[in-house]
Amino acid sequence: MRKIFFAASILICLLMCGCSQNNMREYTENIFAMDTVMDLKIYSENDEALSEAKAEIRRIDTLFDRGNENSDIYKINKNKSADVSAETADVIRTALSISDRTGGAFDITVAPVMDLWGFYGNEFNVPSDDELQSTLEGVGYEKIRFDNTNISIPENTGIDLGGIGKGYASDRIANLLKNKGVKSAIISLGGNVHAICKRNDESEWTVGITDPHNKSQLIGKLKISDKAVITSGAYQRYFEQGGITYHHIIDPTTGKSADSGLASVTVIADSGMTADGLSTALFVMGLDKAIELWRGSSDFDAVFVDEGGMIYVTEGIADVFESDADYSICKRND
Ligand code: ADP
Ligand code: MG
Repeated sequence: MRKIFFAASILICLLMCGCSQNNMREYTENIFAMDTVMDLKIYSENDEALSEAKAEIRRIDTLFDRGNENSDIYKINKNKSADVSAETADVIRTALSISDRTGGAFDITVAPVMDLWGFYGNEFNVPSDDELQSTLEGVGYEKIRFDNTNISIPENTGIDLGGIGKGYASDRIANLLKNKGVKSAIISLGGNVHAICKRNDESEWTVGITDPHNKSQLIGKLKISDKAVITSGAYQRYFEQGGITYHHIIDPTTGKSADSGLASVTVIADSGMTADGLSTALFVMGLDKAIELWRGSSDFDAVFVDEGGMIYVTEGIADVFESDADYSICKRND
């Protein structure tokens, strides 16, 4: 009798624990924040870490949302000079260092250009060349001035952290979950994926890379653990007018949708901020300059898909990339 009771309690325990072998249960959550859909999946003894992760995403959203009167970015853009949290100042500093290393392809002062095209608020409009030229006068990351945590910008300049904010959020969530003792989790912040440690069964996570020419398909998969995998693509936010497609990644030199011959760039890095900022920048730079930057760096790898559908994978992740399609491997010493 005791044996039957013992066997039954093990069975009940396994069912309650989602059949995991290490007493961890799977908790999932789907929320809308930072203007996108976010999926969180964690393995934990309870849902406490998941609740904290959600609260953290909401906090960061409020801090950076330039449409929210309580956000640091709103204050800078409205008053042109504002005391902000040390955290916001740090993220802006990191954004500027990505601008430096990408020759200005990444530039958080594209805000007025985003507004002109109506990407902020989704009221799309194709501006005239004159409008673009005068708006571009306010664009330039070197115009941002720091005095500790006081940040000032010129009258016609504005800041938009849309190209780096989700990467920052994923770094924060990864740290928070690890500090809470979570040993396995994966989060997707609008397709920006951050894998925390390995899967619950100790195998690598599989992260799919969307085919930029057909969003319902994948062009390949990566087997990774403890990495951010972040994609920037022309297919993610766009509108069409007069048969032309205008998308949300802006070339700061022209003020127009970047037209570098790439359809998507996926960056794989330890840091979500690096992966997010660089994916946007490399998309603007185009394949040749992007590869040149990769050759001189040691903190990221990438998968590029060009407008013709050709796939290029950097050497560092070639072993963990799987695809049914043909692809070229970019070598460090070519
Ligand atoms: P998503 O936010 O769709 O994941 P990205 O990370 O590529 O895609 O970021 C695009 C967003 O970044 C735009 O919506 C805009 O807010 C901002 N942005 C656009 N062009 C640039 C640029 N050249 N440098 C920095 N930020 C940019
Ligand atoms: Mg980005």
